[in-house]
Amino acid sequence: MNRTAFHLRPEAADFDPYVPGLSVAGVRERFGLSTVIKMAGNENPLGISPAALEAVRRNAGLGFRYPREGNPDLVAALAAHYSLPEQRFVPGNGSDEIIDLLLRVCPVPGRHNVVASRSSFSMYRVLSRLCGVEFRSVPRREDFSFDIPGLAAAADDRTALLFLTMPDNPSGACPERAEVEALARRLPPSCLLVLDEAYIDFCVDPEAQSFLRLLDEFGNVAVLRTFSKIYGLAGLRLGCGILPPALAAVLRSVHMPFSVNTAAEAAGIAALGDRAFYGETRRVVAEGRTLLHKELSALGFVVYPSQANFLMFRPGTEHSLNAAEIFEGLLARGVIIRRLASYGLEEYLRVSVGTERENKEFIRYIRELCI
Ligand SMILES: *Cc1c(COP(=O)(O)O)cnc(C)c1O
Repeated sequence: MNRTAFHLRPEAADFDPYVPGLSVAGVRERFGLSTVIKMAGNENPLGISPAALEAVRRNAGLGFRYPREGNPDLVAALAAHYSLPEQRFVPGNGSDEIIDLLLRVCPVPGRHNVVASRSSFSMYRVLSRLCGVEFRSVPRREDFSFDIPGLAAAADDRTALLFLTMPDNPSGACPERAEVEALARRLPPSCLLVLDEAYIDFCVDPEAQSFLRLLDEFGNVAVLRTFSKIYGLAGLRLGCGILPPALAAVLRSVHMPFSVNTAAEAAGIAALGDRAFYGETRRVVAEGRTLLHKELSALGFVVYPSQANFLMFRPGTEHSLNAAEIFEGLLARGVIIRRLASYGLEEYLRVSVGTERENKEFIRYIRELCI
């Protein structure tokens, strides 16, 4: 409990914050290492798109100007890219900002609730709690997949938002679109189904797996997209909500002005047009994911099938080290992966797919630790 002399909302005083992965600089300092490989944040292994970098450089001189309110150029580019009306799009300072806005705009604290699967992306829970909104977490099935009927059953006419991540973070599994459609049909019309498609572009067939093409059929579904993963802009902070138009209008009216900065807007527009970088990222991730899955399985780890740019795994019965020891052992060798203890998964680890060289180094070190 943080004690101060000031008035504080109990939700803030008792706040259980989002736990980020470790940073390269932090690990360098702690272990006195010169090179550190980060495979923890699901960032793009190829870095920033060259077209986006060029756009940031070209627009750097505009840093003294406020961006245009509502980022109309970006909204137009998004609408054209996804062939959907501009009225649906709300850009944000990362898709985290859209999650935050939805939680502040939709549920009334003390009256409404929010539903998500247990051990999901923690921002849904963290921000619900900060808003003082009841958060219902629904257990998963034995194989870690979403219990879609269980989620539907947990929602009632006081459920404002139901979050579903597709593909899932941290497991990488992608629910069948037919199942998601059935869920959308079962929910009360007052409940917004929020499909977080942060990793959809790493799926085998993003067009077929995404819900975007179905939005017109469903008045109660929203999709979140981010530029932090496939577009390589995690540090510039850019994401968007693709929402029912009336709700988009509310978010646009209440959001913090200028939350999407000039550099992020220019980079986002350029990244959407950089199809070569998009395709190359998909290729590198698909190949790396296959390699990591094969090698980790060969070392006796239990590896979960993933359609995203990371793999969840846990030590098998023959391993003498537990997840925390493997994590620490890799850290001491300069490789940062993600422990999933903060997701409530004490014995699980998650590794982001890196470059070919990074994947090989990671496998070399984890093999060293395990024999
Ligand atoms: C990384 C991630 C996001 C993206 O967050 P940004 O704020 O856009 O960087 C959203 N949802 C999930 C599930 C994620 O893993």
